[in-house]
Amino acid sequence: MCGIVGNINKSLVKNNLIEGLKKLEYRGYDSVGIALVNNNKAIDILKSEGKIDDFLSKYKDNKSDGQIGIGHTRWATHGIPSDNNAHPIFDYYKTLAVVHNGIIENYLEIKTYLQSKGYEFVTDTDTECIANLISSYIKDGYSITKAIDFTIEKITGHAAVLILSEDHPSTIYGFKKGFAGSLLIGKSDEQIAIASDFQTLISNSKEYMVLEDGERVVATKDGILISNGKSNVRKKWLPINEDEEIVSKNNYQFFMEKEIHEQSDVFLKNFQGRVDFNKKTVNFANEFNNLDLATIKRIHLIGMGSSYYACMLASYWLEKISKIPVQCSNSSEFRYRNPVIENNTLIVPVSQSGETADTLSASNLARELKVDQICITNTTNSELERITKNSIMMRASSEIGVASTKTFMATIEIFFIIALYLSQINHVNEDLSDIFDELKIIPSYIDNILKNSDKIIKLSNKYSSNNNFLFLGRGQNYPIAMEGALKLKELSYVHAEGYPAGEMKHGPISLIDSNMPVINIVTDGPYLNKMISNIREIQSRKGKIIVLTNCPEKLDSSWYDDIITFDKTDDILSPFLSTVCVQLFAMYLAISRNLDIDRPRNLAKSVTVE
Ligand code: GLU
Repeated sequence: MCGIVGNINKSLVKNNLIEGLKKLEYRGYDSVGIALVNNNKAIDILKSEGKIDDFLSKYKDNKSDGQIGIGHTRWATHGIPSDNNAHPIFDYYKTLAVVHNGIIENYLEIKTYLQSKGYEFVTDTDTECIANLISSYIKDGYSITKAIDFTIEKITGHAAVLILSEDHPSTIYGFKKGFAGSLLIGKSDEQIAIASDFQTLISNSKEYMVLEDGERVVATKDGILISNGKSNVRKKWLPINEDEEIVSKNNYQFFMEKEIHEQSDVFLKNFQGRVDFNKKTVNFANEFNNLDLATIKRIHLIGMGSSYYACMLASYWLEKISKIPVQCSNSSEFRYRNPVIENNTLIVPVSQSGETADTLSASNLARELKVDQICITNTTNSELERITKNSIMMRASSEIGVASTKTFMATIEIFFIIALYLSQINHVNEDLSDIFDELKIIPSYIDNILKNSDKIIKLSNKYSSNNNFLFLGRGQNYPIAMEGALKLKELSYVHAEGYPAGEMKHGPISLIDSNMPVINIVTDGPYLNKMISNIREIQSRKGKIIVLTNCPEKLDSSWYDDIITFDKTDDILSPFLSTVCVQLFAMYLAISRNLDIDRPRNLAKSVTVE
């Protein structure tokens, strides 16, 4: 799930490559590297373990540069993050340099075969087998393009690849197989640019085209040739007319902190054109294109990580409000379990990046099964949008913090609005008028939590040395318990589990002792008394009780050790607010542990490998 860049330019490219990699660092940040064709038409590779700053300090005195080059920021799958395993990776003869996003599933078989032909491997990566396989076909007398086509055929798995060749010093070759993130090709008068995402491309291109599964590109300063292995593929250049979004931390210490604070704005933006609070109606006319949702009998939601928890929450809302049966699957499970999809099912894949490999594969399977789909994503022109054809944008602007916050909020808000919409078009006979009124003021309730975050800061400091946490919730706050535990794991590297509170007695209760803080989401609604019973049970076993609640007046202060409060709403809306509390708790706990909030270890923002 790395980031890839390529550049062919009238001027020197090293800085362009590095600037591009900085924008793509969210996709992987355990090593960085670039390959350049130098003045002597030889390939220089500069690469290092660590983040871009480590790379820059390692090479601060290096003068290599050229007018053509490729670059990579890695998220290691095969081989530890190290200088040696960083991309670009040379072939055995050191005449080809390769950067690769994805996983070659049959790499061992290929490696063994090439070793038997005398090829020595010097890295632990699967990528090296791509470099050596192309090289071996060239040695057998094939042209480089034929060699690449054979390689595309031979490898299994997912790959987005760029290649520099010393024998063709004015050309960048590339190919895509399966779902390993996008490869977008852009051009302007000065340059041909290649990048893994649109935001990176638009800073230096006026037009672009997309490389699809099974396609190979040959890029020179004079133009682009795309082939699918059998024949050339004619593609139109598409105009880029979006203004580049300037992303900065403003006065916040971390992107994540800024992004949490943007949530009320994001919430408001997602209402626009969709929710009419005067008429109490919802309209998705522009986004659903020709899909007729009135015929939908069943909905299947798919996602990974936080998106999956958003789907879980949505399943409660959609069933309750729109009365349509909903199933929800982790994309990686959906893909391989031969799912049975009934007629008139709508599939909704969720991925903020639109590049999540598992979700792309699952959605592609749904496309093959000819099921109607609408994706929810934060990225225009993403692979997911191309597969599903219909999309609802999160309108969350760029999210840089690796742990999702505002995109989670935007996703659940969109799901809530979809639930209202389906109830409207299916004429569900329930008065939702109060819900509209309350929904409208959620953004100001979100801000109230943020204004009073001091209390959460103190609490996070108090618990910062605990290494285990449980999060409990019921009903629509059960997925928020899961999301809270995930946020804490991701950011603070402490062990945290989320459970539906009813499950407590079926096992997890044996973990309770005085060292186990349990975060309970207790809201005023049908689950209140059940949650109170759970708290009392935990307290009887000396567990530390933290309650996140919108009804402190209904709880005796002797029942808990600590309390975080938020505004009271109809219970169905409470997840919007409990979400903000668990996000802040996880972030401040990680801050008090002095951790890298925006780039937690081992993670990447966009998971483009399965
Ligand atoms: N599988 C390759 C490696 O581990 C590429 C990983 C990535 O996508 O960054 O080096």
